[in-house]
Amino acid sequence: MRKKIIAGNWKMNKTFDEGMALVTEIAGMVKDEYSGSAQVVIIPPFVHINAVSRMVADSRNIFSGAQNCSNHDSGAYTGEVSAGMIKSCGAEYVIIGHSERRQYFNETNDWLARKVDAVLKNNLTAIYCCGETLEERESNTHFDVLKKQVSEGLFHLTAEQFANVVIAYEPVWAIGTGKTASTAQAQEVHAFIRGLVCEHYNNQVADNLTIQYGGSVKAENAVELFSAPDIDGALVGGAALQSRSFVDIVKAMK
Ligand code: PEP
Repeated sequence: MRKKIIAGNWKMNKTFDEGMALVTEIAGMVKDEYSGSAQVVIIPPFVHINAVSRMVADSRNIFSGAQNCSNHDSGAYTGEVSAGMIKSCGAEYVIIGHSERRQYFNETNDWLARKVDAVLKNNLTAIYCCGETLEERESNTHFDVLKKQVSEGLFHLTAEQFANVVIAYEPVWAIGTGKTASTAQAQEVHAFIRGLVCEHYNNQVADNLTIQYGGSVKAENAVELFSAPDIDGALVGGAALQSRSFVDIVKAMK
């Protein structure tokens, strides 16, 4: 059964007190105002994960996640955080391959494939990001780029492992820019990605796969995006930093 997931990526924002206040507000609003079936995932900076996990532990539909993890289990990797540590803090999800990590930290598909392995080994779900730049879209190479990102990062997995993968399609030109892909553009790519998964695995694996859209999602465009048959939720950046705007996106998913 395909899950609907709305995840809020706080990136490097919110002090501890600000973060706790935001989670309190989100949890209260989701409880009071949302009766739909989507899962809500709060993805704060590492240092807040344990507290966020405890705050949402009693909720029926709110989970926590991390924005990244090491591909190593433990050892002399100063500044890194392992998937096992994330799991031990109560999180369920880890974003892998966000375009900011690919761009600023030179994370390649091969490198990300090892991070996906670390995530799955620790019984977490990977939210694997892919997406083309504006230049790649304008030169009409975006389908090749997406195929490479998805196949090199994920297709070493077995079908059983793949059940714990979510894909987030995030066109780089739409992240934090206020420019959203049209519903038709997003649906076209989501159907393409599902087709790749069907070709490599089978129809059932493809049908069960949650594919989120990310890139300037707001309450105003969420209803239309979520009406597309292959858009199963959103990975939200800017609008996840305020409770009202984030919960309004959650409420757009019936
Ligand atoms: C993101 O960073 O994953 C993202 C989609 O950001 P925004 O919603 O701000 O475009």
